[in-house]
Amino acid sequence: MKISISYPPLESPKGTPLLSQNRQFQWFSDPTYIYPMIPASAATLLKQNGYEVFWDDAIAEGLSYEEWKERLVREKPDIVAIETKTPVVKRHWQIINELKNHSLQVTNWKLKIILMGDHVAALPEESMKNSKADYVLTGGDYDFLLLNIANKLSDKGELEGGIYYREKNQIINSGEYNLEKHSLDELPPIDRKLTRWELYAFKNGNYKYLPGSYVMNARDCWWGRCSFCSWAALFPGGKFRARSAGKALDEIGELIKLGVREIMEDSGTLPVGKWLEDFCQGMIERGYNKKVKISCNMRLNAIKNIEIYRLMKKAGFRMILFGLESANQKTLDKIGKGLKVEEIEPTLRDCKKAGLEPHITVMVGYPWETKKDLENTLTLAKKLFRQGYVDSLQATLMIPYPGTPLYRYCQENNLLLTD
Ligand code: SF4
Repeated sequence: MKISISYPPLESPKGTPLLSQNRQFQWFSDPTYIYPMIPASAATLLKQNGYEVFWDDAIAEGLSYEEWKERLVREKPDIVAIETKTPVVKRHWQIINELKNHSLQVTNWKLKIILMGDHVAALPEESMKNSKADYVLTGGDYDFLLLNIANKLSDKGELEGGIYYREKNQIINSGEYNLEKHSLDELPPIDRKLTRWELYAFKNGNYKYLPGSYVMNARDCWWGRCSFCSWAALFPGGKFRARSAGKALDEIGELIKLGVREIMEDSGTLPVGKWLEDFCQGMIERGYNKKVKISCNMRLNAIKNIEIYRLMKKAGFRMILFGLESANQKTLDKIGKGLKVEEIEPTLRDCKKAGLEPHITVMVGYPWETKKDLENTLTLAKKLFRQGYVDSLQATLMIPYPGTPLYRYCQENNLLLTD
């Protein structure tokens, strides 16, 4: 059985879409390519279990839609798995329908299409009704779930929870997804050759040193409560899982052998406490800290002791990405950030003092914020730059994504222009 993990080109005047572990969807005019970590893990796991895998990221390859389609038809996979997000889901429905219709005209091509991603996890029936997708995944463990479907289609077991499928013209749900039964330590290290790591090694704003690459040691964020976060529905914070620090270090060693000089650790929030200390000690003891730089996502009040930042610096960490989101306490409370405004400056100061490069993300456009509130955030951001506490900033428009508490808030307050 051949399985294609596909990112069809989504040609648009808006730019290049960022899918995958991009928790706020963006179009980039200057393309940046994020290595899709869970789909890459899926490709590796499927191959390890004897399936033929075709890694098909036509967005990162820069193919046109027609080039991509012709190639896929030549490959004739039995399964195509596509990851989607809210702003592009309708385009994916069109592509799925086109592919399914095309496959019917090709002799002996019984194509099955699987749709996955945060949007369909929130609204699985919508995609089953509006497209000819055969399966929709509702949990974020695409690797375990894709293997489960491939096994089911090969008469090796039953479907586990978290999967929508069709039977006799009915849409059936296999039940609740269960993240706890999937141990991340059971997953093989990502096969970088199979998943064409070089596609994601150069064009990426997170890298200072090239080539760069990605790892993701946890799913996904131990906080998991921000009301706008489109991944909190895939991976609720209470079900947080991390690989052992030892396995994480082994993977860093493999990336160093490939020649990688910078690594983006893209878990929603990096594990802290003993995990982080073990990981840092391991980086130092194995000498990896001299060979590679690491960046990661962190919560602003997660590390309260500057010595931990110093240890991270010694271990090779470089950029630390913090979600600041707003300088207004009422907004931080409303979005479930679990952060006090007065915690922001001391954390960034300590992080910078330890020699790290803090990067902050802020959001604008909260429906309850006034112009004055917006100016507060702008003023704080400017002050942080003036003080030299941050190196870079990323601003995003607040967008309520289906499945998030923020979306429900907007629905209840009649704020949505869409349905
Ligand atoms: S801190 Fe909030 S926004 Fe960031 S990954 Fe966790 S839940 Fe999502």
